[in-house]
Amino acid sequence: MSDSKSSALFERAQRVVPGGVNSPVRAFRAVGGSPVFIAKASGAYLFGESGERFTDYVGSWGPMVFGHTHPKVVAAIEKAVKNGLSFGAPTALEVEFAERVTALYPSIEMMRAVSSGTEATMAALRVARGFTKRDVIVKFEGCYHGHADFLLVQAGSGAATFGTPDSAGVPEAFARLTTVLPYNDIDALRALFESRGKEIAAVIVEPVVGNMGCIAPVPGFLEEIIALCKKHGAVSIFDEVMTGSRVARGGMQARAGLVPDMTCLGKVIGGGLPLAVYGGRREIMQQLAPIGPVYQAGTLSGNPIAVSAGLAAIELLDDALYERLEAASARLERGLNDAIKSTGASACVQRCGSMLTLFFAPGPIRNWSDAKQCDTKRFGRWHAAMLQQGEYWPPSQFEAAFVSGAHTDEDIDRTIRAAEKALRESA
Ligand SMILES: *Cc1c(COP(=O)(O)O)cnc(C)c1O
Repeated sequence: MSDSKSSALFERAQRVVPGGVNSPVRAFRAVGGSPVFIAKASGAYLFGESGERFTDYVGSWGPMVFGHTHPKVVAAIEKAVKNGLSFGAPTALEVEFAERVTALYPSIEMMRAVSSGTEATMAALRVARGFTKRDVIVKFEGCYHGHADFLLVQAGSGAATFGTPDSAGVPEAFARLTTVLPYNDIDALRALFESRGKEIAAVIVEPVVGNMGCIAPVPGFLEEIIALCKKHGAVSIFDEVMTGSRVARGGMQARAGLVPDMTCLGKVIGGGLPLAVYGGRREIMQQLAPIGPVYQAGTLSGNPIAVSAGLAAIELLDDALYERLEAASARLERGLNDAIKSTGASACVQRCGSMLTLFFAPGPIRNWSDAKQCDTKRFGRWHAAMLQQGEYWPPSQFEAAFVSGAHTDEDIDRTIRAAEKALRESA
């Protein structure tokens, strides 16, 4: 559907960048289209290279919780830029940022700032392994934790099988140290700890999944992860790179009233700049160099521009924002459900706060085996029909859509009408 400027840019891009994109899902392959090149963004809207406007439900894949180019974030960045771009030396800004983050997330007694969510999860697991002096990590099928070798492991038929790599270039030997369980399967988790509890360094989980579409944890699932880790001397890690300050100011852990051993943050916490965080219990984080034996470093870690954006973002996370997010997201959920009913589509909506997925399956979707039943072809047709109407929805069935504080009721209602039309057209 893409315009002529985007098509021309995509042509050029494909000659010099693999697939024409710097991150695979941007290529629109999962929906059979080709990407719109974005020239600028403001509030709830993206503007393509040809000037067309889209209502944005991707929000840069999560960071834009209050909408694009918020004046306070932009002003903080402009101010920081004038003082220097990077020093490779500590700054007051970093201290303030760490103080604000640790206050927001009680599970984080100490933290490190890094530049991406991938770095955060990778480093968190290294510290967990250093702390426990164990090698095996446990993840859940369909959860995405960035692209570190030992986390690109997803497959695994049935419970507690040894991992097999999900990407070429990941050695079997690395993948073997990652055990994959079905999401929301408390019994499988108990059985694994019963048999191999002494080998397990850490369990890493998306406390609400966004990366196979929006899937909430069943009651007791997150609690059991924390309890089993505690009992067996393993480290529980909530990867809140997506959910942090998205489903609630203090993330899913605040919503659920839980305190994991470690937490990873990214996306919202960086206000749209490359900034992420990992942290946790003091005795675990004290394993890090220069005070401990676990090495982790970064030339641009805690970059003053990024940290300034993060601080401005944290400043904006007030009650009014979360009330607005809930109201707008609930409105969208209701409208989509009505559209499903009126069109008789075989689909369901799952939502947690301002994360939401329209699954083309009757639902409920509780794990990856449920998710993969979805009619992805129909999703592709629905997506194209949405884009045609100026609605920029994530270009994959298995991604969460994000509502921002900048979406008005009129935006939401327009999206609902477009979604209903797209449901009819994609049938
Ligand atoms: C996006 C994401 C990551 C990876 O973050 P990047 O900044 O893309 O490296 C890790 N975990 C979760 C849950 C994510 O949603």
